[in-house]
Amino acid sequence: ALVEDDYDARRKDHISHFILRLAYCQSEELRRWFLQQEMDLFRYRFNELTDNLRQKFLDHVNLKFEAISEDLKNEWANDLCASTPGLTMIKVKEQMFYKVGLADAVELFRARRVFIKDGFAYVPLKDIDAIVLNNYRTKLSKALALTARSLPSIQSDERLQPLLNHLSHSYVGPDYSVQKNTGKISLEQIDALSVKSFPLCMRQLHKALRENHHLRHGGRMQYGLFLKSIGLTLEQALEFWKKEFTRGKVDADKFDKGYAYSIRHSYGKEGRRTDYTPYSCMKIIMSNPPSQGDYHGCPFRHCDPELLKQKLQLYKVPQSGTNQILELVKGMHYQLACQKYFELTHDVEDIGFSLNHPNQYFAESQKLLSGGREVKKEPSHVGNSQQKSSGQESTNSNSTPTSSNTATDAELEGLEEYFAED
Ligand code: SF4
Repeated sequence: ALVEDDYDARRKDHISHFILRLAYCQSEELRRWFLQQEMDLFRYRFNELTDNLRQKFLDHVNLKFEAISEDLKNEWANDLCASTPGLTMIKVKEQMFYKVGLADAVELFRARRVFIKDGFAYVPLKDIDAIVLNNYRTKLSKALALTARSLPSIQSDERLQPLLNHLSHSYVGPDYSVQKNTGKISLEQIDALSVKSFPLCMRQLHKALRENHHLRHGGRMQYGLFLKSIGLTLEQALEFWKKEFTRGKVDADKFDKGYAYSIRHSYGKEGRRTDYTPYSCMKIIMSNPPSQGDYHGCPFRHCDPELLKQKLQLYKVPQSGTNQILELVKGMHYQLACQKYFELTHDVEDIGFSLNHPNQYFAESQKLLSGGREVKKEPSHVGNSQQKSSGQESTNSNSTPTSSNTATDAELEGLEEYFAED
């Protein structure tokens, strides 16, 4: 951070940090998430600094914590070791100790975890980062609250407003709306795929749909677009949703009048003919939280930890893995928790990619399970109706002018209107 010759990198870092402040100050939820990410980044960077740079940094931000000399440390070694739990004499020799005013070390002092002498606390490096982080958290938290207050004037700037509205859940990864898998899966495969290759959010939606024969509009949007992108043709989607809904309280006529239009719409066959993109993790995590009776959202973000634990146990995730996942969730690392779930359910040590999208989860799972090949249709399920369906879809796709597959949220909001019925 304090290296002189990386001015350009630091400049970009500053600009992006302040833009993100603007984008993430808009709600309590966004502020909490942003704070957590910034804390993690800060901790990582602070621990990467050399002793010299760390001292320079503390001076730079006016945290007057001075490292004590080696001579003084050796003189007090016994006291330092006795007063600092978890430190052996060897560790005392290895660590740097900082002279800190009592006000800054009040937590350590209260918990009797620090050596006090002449009104100062002598804090080992392993604890100083907690003090610095706390300080940073307080400052950033205040700054975010202050930024939020000036939002009305910023939002009236038409150059900034669209950027700020979408930044908190924008997605810049691969485009999963590209229909390269269209027609490659059969409806009969979905139950098995939901267990093997669906991320928890989609597995939960599939289970709820099968059990209740209904999903409310948030669930239909999230799950419908996911299914479309893993390869369901329009005909398959209509058949899939109709079969399930008519098992419940919706009769065929009501389905055709109330729901079929919205499914065709999501495939770009109605209205503005926009080929809608499936939701990314950030969109699912950051917008439209589920309420009572909803099954959409990200279970790692939106489930009560106890419920999540039960869910993971039901899905045979080992206890130690469940604990790791719950720890990640506690730290608001929802996508990392999902990556851990992938590793545990696929029996791999390292997922080898960074998860940003439910369809990425599915694609990676299929790649892994099929040894690098694409989704394969099981021979017994290759029925005539499926082949016919995919043939029809490909004809339709070619003959129907679909608009860009980079649908904006504004366009999606248009679609949501069509899904408004519960
Ligand atoms: Fe779904 Fe993404 Fe949450 Fe995983 S992290 S459950 S893929 S929204």
